[in-house]
Amino acid sequence: MPISWAILESDEGIWLIDCGLATAAAGDPSRVYGPVGQRARLLSTETLEERLAAAGLDRSLVAGVLLTHLHYDHAGALVDLPAGVPAWVHAAELAAAQAAGARLGYHPSILTAAVAWRSFVGDQQPLAGVALIETPGHSRGHVSVLITLGEQRYLVTGDAAPTVRNLSDRLLPGLHVDRTAAAASLDRLIALWRSGASPLPSHDPAFWAAQPEAVVRLPPAT
Ligand SMILES: [Zn+2]
Repeated sequence: MPISWAILESDEGIWLIDCGLATAAAGDPSRVYGPVGQRARLLSTETLEERLAAAGLDRSLVAGVLLTHLHYDHAGALVDLPAGVPAWVHAAELAAAQAAGARLGYHPSILTAAVAWRSFVGDQQPLAGVALIETPGHSRGHVSVLITLGEQRYLVTGDAAPTVRNLSDRLLPGLHVDRTAAAASLDRLIALWRSGASPLPSHDPAFWAAQPEAVVRLPPAT
């Protein structure tokens, strides 16, 4: 099962949308995350550092992180980022992670990362052309990310719709903490997909086999 995250590149640096597992988890995620980590896989060639290098980038260029949610497979590598990097996360998600400890897909190491937390409620626009939209249900404070580049729109669905089939067949994510909210969030994403936004799903082997990376280049700031 792929674990997908995205790079937004601009003249001012790069922003990450999620960041995958911590580098220390390479080879054996359960070493860092315990038994729940046995469900994940991270090759040494798939770490944040290696994936950035493959795109001609490195960690020092990271200007910020937008987090769909704080499960370890989406936020684990926050611990590998330079101190003070702004990390945007929904306030309900941060609270859920703090309450969960090492349960329910969360892990305490993520909360001790040296990032600068930027918690929020409601839909947000942290960058020009980049909107965080509330899609709770898989987790308490899950958000999805809508990127608008001229006529082209991309939709980072996170685990609110981990595969394209969740959208096309209106399938709820297999894991959710609130079924009603997950259904409403899925309908919100389906509406965006039907209006022409291209999905970038979080755990979709067929999709990512055909399109192995997502580097979206933002136009220069005007
Ligand atoms: Zn998740």
